[in-house]
Amino acid sequence: MAESVERLQQRVQELERELAQERNRRAPGSGEGGGGRVRIEKMSSEVVDSNPYSRLMALKRMGIVSDYEKIRTFAVAIVGVGGVGSVTAEMLTRCGIGKLLLFDYDKVELANMNRLFFQPHQAGLSKVQAAEHTLRNINPDVLFEVHNYNITTVENFQHFMDRISNGGLEEGKPVDLVLSCVDNFEARMTINTACNELGQTWMESGVSENAVSGHIQLIIPGESACFACAPPLVVAANIDEKTLKREGVCAASLPTTMGVVAGILVQNVLKFLLNFGTVSFYLGYNAMQDFFPTMSMKPNPQCDDRNCRKQQEEYKKKVAALPKQEVMQEEEEIIHEDNEWARRFCH
Ligand SMILES: [Zn+2]
Repeated sequence: MAESVERLQQRVQELERELAQERNRRAPGSGEGGGGRVRIEKMSSEVVDSNPYSRLMALKRMGIVSDYEKIRTFAVAIVGVGGVGSVTAEMLTRCGIGKLLLFDYDKVELANMNRLFFQPHQAGLSKVQAAEHTLRNINPDVLFEVHNYNITTVENFQHFMDRISNGGLEEGKPVDLVLSCVDNFEARMTINTACNELGQTWMESGVSENAVSGHIQLIIPGESACFACAPPLVVAANIDEKTLKREGVCAASLPTTMGVVAGILVQNVLKFLLNFGTVSFYLGYNAMQDFFPTMSMKPNPQCDDRNCRKQQEEYKKKVAALPKQEVMQEEEEIIHEDNEWARRFCH
């Protein structure tokens, strides 16, 4: 009896300490709640130990990126803040992205601790809330908007669409990119539906249920295959759709594969936003063979999504209106390989 009272008193002390820390962080005048450093108005390339952006700005000196500061003008929405999404959010935060919008309805669990980012003391907190807290401390220059809900319900879907269209760096403007880091087919189809309707460019990511393969995919509505154009991929691989995981926790996951997939996703995001290197339409990762296949897929003219077909028409008109010499001859091919990452839609 005496022992349990003592334990409770200890716990109360711990909680009081945490509360005091939390209040300190949110004290007036401490900016947006960043406990680590003050906000920086302008990115500097000055080479001093106290400059959090010196190594990033060095990309300009190295001739890789012509205008790194531009990263601050972009807003990126991340749907799913799990094994891939949380690491993606951290990388973009550390790179100094302008704004992040996070969508998830899960809570942090101890069963997530084999992955990166979340910590045991955050168990029980909503993922978006815990992530926002950590990310603000890492970089208070980034604006955060978090939504603790499931985007697939009818009313949340409307709100989700509204935030994609209006939640840009400047309120009323659309976000620059949507990243799908979800672990189920239904949520991917929901993002696909929203982005086809809005003509919103997005990137999809996935890690297989057996934890040893993954992929990323860039989807520009009308220009490249959307997620609904791809079911032939599933069909071609003789996959019984009933075996696709729709929700819940996956059987296996590795911090390595998830870290690699988050890495190739954010690399593609940086190349896309800052205009350097080759942006991949599809990049796979097979950990068993260390195989990284790439390909690009044209949209399917018979896609089930009517907004995808509409975007395809608009893209054709746009290309036809270009001056002749600027029309690039694109050699895209639809490849429906029996690829392993088509088998499971997870993470
Ligand atoms: Zn389509």
